[in-house]
Order: sequence, then structure tokens, then C-alpha cells
Amino acid sequence: MSMNHRYIFVVGGVMSGVGKGVTTASIGKILQSRGFTVTAIKIDPYVNVDAGTMNPVEHGEVFVTNDGDETDQDMGNYERFLNTELTSMNYMTTGRVYQTVIERERNLGYKGRCVQVVPHIPEEVIARIKKATEHAKADFTVVEIGGTVGEYENILFLEAGRMMHLADPKNVMFILVSYLPIPKHLGEMKTKPTQHATRTLNSAGIHPDFIVCRGEQYMDKPRREKLSVFCNVKPGDVISAPDVSSIYHIPAVFEKQGFSDEMLKKFGLKPKGSDLRKWNKMASVQEKAEKSVKIAVVGKYFATGDYTLSDSYISVIEALKHASWANNASIELEWINSEDFEKESKKLAQLSTYDGVLVPGGFGTRGIEGVISAVRYCREKKIPYFGICYGMQLATVEFARTVLGLTSAHTVEVDEATEDPIIHVNPSQMKNIRENRYGGTMRLGAYDCDLKAGTIARKAYGAPSISERHRHRYEFNNAYTSAIEEKGMIVSGVNPQSGLVEIVELKDHPFFVGVQFHPEFQSRPLHPHPLFKAFIKSALQK
Ligand code: GLN
Repeated sequence: MSMNHRYIFVVGGVMSGVGKGVTTASIGKILQSRGFTVTAIKIDPYVNVDAGTMNPVEHGEVFVTNDGDETDQDMGNYERFLNTELTSMNYMTTGRVYQTVIERERNLGYKGRCVQVVPHIPEEVIARIKKATEHAKADFTVVEIGGTVGEYENILFLEAGRMMHLADPKNVMFILVSYLPIPKHLGEMKTKPTQHATRTLNSAGIHPDFIVCRGEQYMDKPRREKLSVFCNVKPGDVISAPDVSSIYHIPAVFEKQGFSDEMLKKFGLKPKGSDLRKWNKMASVQEKAEKSVKIAVVGKYFATGDYTLSDSYISVIEALKHASWANNASIELEWINSEDFEKESKKLAQLSTYDGVLVPGGFGTRGIEGVISAVRYCREKKIPYFGICYGMQLATVEFARTVLGLTSAHTVEVDEATEDPIIHVNPSQMKNIRENRYGGTMRLGAYDCDLKAGTIARKAYGAPSISERHRHRYEFNNAYTSAIEEKGMIVSGVNPQSGLVEIVELKDHPFFVGVQFHPEFQSRPLHPHPLFKAFIKSALQK
């Protein structure tokens, strides 16, 4: 193991869904703020090869990397907190690890030896962790192991961490992220589940260097001392992580407890500075701003509730926040179920009470006519409109129907036999669909886009050509380009290699922009995305 690299494994205890991803990202952030290079890796214990085939309601957003990998939403938190660009090397699943080992075996890569779950699977995990670390030239690699300790699924990943620690104990550390419930009938924070989680981790041969205690409130001294004694860690190595109003406050919460100092001490390192000022300022705009902007996100509603709904669009929500804060405004976000407009068109008038409307990406047929009527309302009433991916495709469908008079125009995703397939499927995709090849076969990752002079897009980006990340199967049909342009919808962005339409916008409208790509993936708290910024700016002027 190279002397320069240090590894921090973050594992979960007690229960999932306590914000292990944000904790991991914040641990990386505070180390970065002390002058070190940090990268992060997400280990997803699922057998799926990537997150592209997982149900977004169960698994959350599919975060797309520049190199076109379909990964877990936590990768988005890492990119946003660390202001860095990650690749497919930073993401692994059980399926992916096994696939490599099995392929290597088939190619006689193990030279006739018996290939075994241990050590060959953890060895492949370790090789991947090291490769990503070398690639990022990272002083620190924070590795988040998905799930909670004690599950079958993540044992081999814990084993990989244990083996790395055995080989180089000074440079490998473990952090347990646990949860301390406060049962209503007791009104008191309970430490027992965390004690059990620590024991379970111990039985995998791993002892935590730190325990991060999530909970509704700050942890008090008696509980810190109790955990110290029962879990065999120093009181100062028990870190409290209470619920806060914004995830961007968490680095400050950690630093108040001296977390990065303690980590660096254990690694025998001296900090090279400390810089969280700009970050903390950004994190407080929501509470301090005098202006406020009200945005409606219109889409199909996931019946399982708001929690999963917002998880499925986490990058869009975060990008909206970054852009609002950069405009010195707080943001009020509301979800509108497009199916409401299908049942009752009178409800469309409620869109006038918002400063702007965003239609995010999506798939399938449910709620689509509702989205199309919302687009029409925003176009005709001059409400700032931002359409992303499906939101762009449906904006062209609406324009074709209402303005070009092609009343049956549609995307072939919804109406395969439409007379006017303004959104169609290109031949390479046709083959994938016919052969049921759905895994990793969409148009994925970063593509170039040239911008037309004098357009909203060109002005927002301040550059003639850009690169954005994609994830879709269908495309704008270039047979309709001149027809829409004649009637005032401008194609303001085109992929120079393929001629595919990437951005459309309207001339006589304060802000009506549709993008085929997913700009939300590149928005960072301190570097908000230019199109989101322009959208919010125009919404604030409404
Ligand atoms: N369903 C559309 C397509 O596959 C849009 C995808 C998206 O919005 N991400 O092209």
C-alpha cells in the first residue's frame, strides 16, 4: 500500500436511512477543508450491476457520472460536497465485483487455482478501492459500505476493509454511523442499539475508531460516556450528529466537536489550514435571505409518499437550492401531481401562484397529458418554465400540437404509432428495445453541446460550447426542426457529433427552456448550474 493514501471506511449500524451518505460526504468535506485531497467510493451491496435497473421509488435517484455510469444517489452527495468529478471507478455493487471475478476466471486469470469467495471477492474489492484512490491521487479515500452491519449482503465488503486494515493498520480507519432513538414514551435517548451494532462490527474483526451518533437531538455527556465505556472508544471519539435544518450544516456540526482534528491526529497528520467559511455562509442563506422564490415541480406522483418522491429527484432539488441561494433567495418548493390536471383542468390556474415551474426527467405514460397541459399553461401565461429531459421532450410535443397544429404529435414512448413522432427513438436504441437489452444501454454520460449565439442558453453559460450528462432513450426528431423554428421555438443547443437537438427555447417568453440532458448532476453548492441560476433569476423577476 502506498504511504500517501489513507482509507476511511464508513459503515452503518442500527438502521438504514439515517443519512450515512451525507455523513460520508461531510467527513470528506471537513478533511478537504483542512487542505487534503479527498475522494469517495460508494459500495452498494445489491446484486444489480448498476443502479440503472433499480426502481427509483425503492432506491432513490439514479446518479449519472460523466463517464456514463448509472450509480447511487450518494455519489451525487459526494460530488456536491467535495466539488469533484467521480467516475465509474468510485462505484461498485456486489454484481459488478462478482462479474469481474467470474470473467477473470473464465479467461484463466486465476491460472487454474480454485477461485473462492474469500479471499478472491474481497481482493477484487480492495483492487477497486486502490484503483479509484490512485486515479484521484487522493490523500484520503472515504469508502461508504451500504446497508448496516450484521447483514449478509455487506460482509464481504467489511472483510475487504478488515484485510486492508490488517495489512496497514496506521492508514485504515473505521467509522460507525449509528442511530440513537428517543422513544416517545420514554423521552430519553437510548444507546443500547448502538452498543449492539458495535459488538456486531467487532464480530467481523473490526473495531470502530469513531462512532457518529445520529439522532433527533445532540447527545448529552452521560450518554457519550456510556457509549465510550460500553463500545470501547474514547469519549472524544463519539461524535454527535443531530438532525439539522440543512445537510450543508453538517460539516460545521462536526467541526464544532473537533472531528477533523481527531481524525488527523489518529493518522499522525497535521492540518494544512481550515476553510469552511464560504461553505457555511452558503449553508445559511435559506434561513437568512430576505427574498424568497416559490417553485413548483410538476411530475407524476409516487404513491409511496413525499420522502421517496424527493429522494428520486434529489439532484434537481439540490440544484434548485444552490441556484436560489446564489441569487440570495430562500426557496419554497412544492410538488404538483400532473394527474391532478388531467382530472380537473381548472387546477392549472394554481400554477400562476408560483414564480417558476420545473418538469424533471421521467419515464412511462402515467400523468403525461397533465404535464403537457401544464407546459401549455406556462408557455401561454409566460410563467418561467424549465424542462429537463422528459420535461424538454414534452415541451416539444405541446408546441407541435398547439402551435404547429399537429394534434396527434407525441413521443413514441407513449404512442408508438403516432402520425407525428416529434420525439422518436434512434435506430441503435430500437435494437436494444427489441432485444430487451435495458441495462446500461441508454444514451448515458457526458456529451458536447454547441450553443447558438444570442440565445438564453448561450447567455446563461457564457460559453459557446459545453458538456452535459445524459440519461434517456428517446430523442427529438430532426425532421421537425425547421417547422418548430419557423414558429418561434429555437434549437439553441446541438450535439456537434450527431446533430441531435439538446436544447430548445422560446423567443417571446421570459424563460422557457427545455434541455435533453440532466444539468442537475453538475450543480455544486458553491458553483450552481448556470441554467438553474438563470431560471431562478427569471422566476425572481416574475
Ligand atoms: N423517458 C424519456 C427517454 O427515455 C426521458 C428520460 C428522462 O427524462 N431521463 O428518453
